[in-house]
Amino acid sequence: MIKKVAVLPGDGVGKEVTKGAVDVLKVVAQRFNHQFEFTYGLIGGAAIDEEGTPLPIHTVETCKQADAVLLGAVGGTKWDELPSHMRPERGLLAIRKELDLYANLRPVTYYDSLVDSSPLKKEYIEGVDFIIVRELTGGLYFGKPSERRTEGSKEAVVDTLFYKRDEIERIIRQAFEMAVNRRKKVTSVDKANVLESSCLWREIAAEVAKEYPDVELEHMLVDSAAMQLIRNPQHFDVVVTENMFGDILSDEASMLTGSLGMLPSASLTVNGPSLYEPVHGSAPDIAGQNKANPIAAILSAAMMLRYSFGLEEEAKVIEQAVENVLNAGHRTADLANGLHYLSTEKMVEAIVDVIADDSAIVNIMTAYS
Ligand code: NAD
Repeated sequence: MIKKVAVLPGDGVGKEVTKGAVDVLKVVAQRFNHQFEFTYGLIGGAAIDEEGTPLPIHTVETCKQADAVLLGAVGGTKWDELPSHMRPERGLLAIRKELDLYANLRPVTYYDSLVDSSPLKKEYIEGVDFIIVRELTGGLYFGKPSERRTEGSKEAVVDTLFYKRDEIERIIRQAFEMAVNRRKKVTSVDKANVLESSCLWREIAAEVAKEYPDVELEHMLVDSAAMQLIRNPQHFDVVVTENMFGDILSDEASMLTGSLGMLPSASLTVNGPSLYEPVHGSAPDIAGQNKANPIAAILSAAMMLRYSFGLEEEAKVIEQAVENVLNAGHRTADLANGLHYLSTEKMVEAIVDVIADDSAIVNIMTAYS
């Protein structure tokens, strides 16, 4: 298989973890006889420094010509004082809109070997395996007007929560499609006791559910969902929600696994390249120290193989290699509880070695046969 991958490392640890994910894709290509061609582009602060804009047009073109996009992270203190339309994060919002990346999938998976890294007790997190399906191109983050104003002589501000019916319908349908191949349960999260947009969201969820009689639908208010994610995370299978609720709940959910550095994501579109990125940001506090956990980026690359290229076996090999390395006791600093830890590069090497090793691959494949 020959595939073009656009790589946008971005800023801070984005650069370090993306390099790790590319190394892993290269070893997968070698082992399975694929050809992945990597083309690099600027986004975020790096693009502001070089080109004066967080998303240069040729970065968009590079992405549109690719079969999939791998992104690191954007942002950093250096650009914090810029006006909001010029900030690195604008680049991220703009690429989502440009590529119509409407569905953000964030799996949250429990690893036996990381039980001590989670702030929650083992009995609460054991077996946790759910996926958050977040709407990504609408809602408060994109609605207009979004501005400061003067009302009379007083300072005021407005953001707009706007959705069209078809935007809600397609993300909810995406969640049901995922649930069909999982434990067949969708939790639709809203704030229907207060927000009109949530009332429509709830109505549409109930309509779509009729097309999937084997899938159970439950509605949950976002405040209750925030609580249940900590109190009873095993309860969830597929969680679907609008843009801002999904943003907040998925960061909360990341702590179940012990670190933001473990959480991958996929942002899917209908036509054209989908985008894969770790959930975490550019982590300015540890950037440039070879200390970041590359696993979220590496698992994002696995999602790319699965969702964009249909390479399920190769995706599973990466996921199993990560698990093997964790089971062997290897940790990056975020997971090490102050004990010995591996650098970013060493962690990547450990995962690459497992994938490159014939006998390890055989063991992995036997486990899945
Ligand atoms: P962050 O995710 O960058 O960091 C939060 C905490 O998690 C930090 O303590 C950091 O060290 C740690 N962390 C994050 N990734 C890690 C990794 N791979 N390994 C080990 N530890 C890791 O969030 P923040 O500090 O709120 O934001 C920093 C910058 O990143 C800001 O400019 C923000 O706007 C941006 N940001 C970008 C994205 C993105 O590009 N998708 C997402 C969130 C935040």
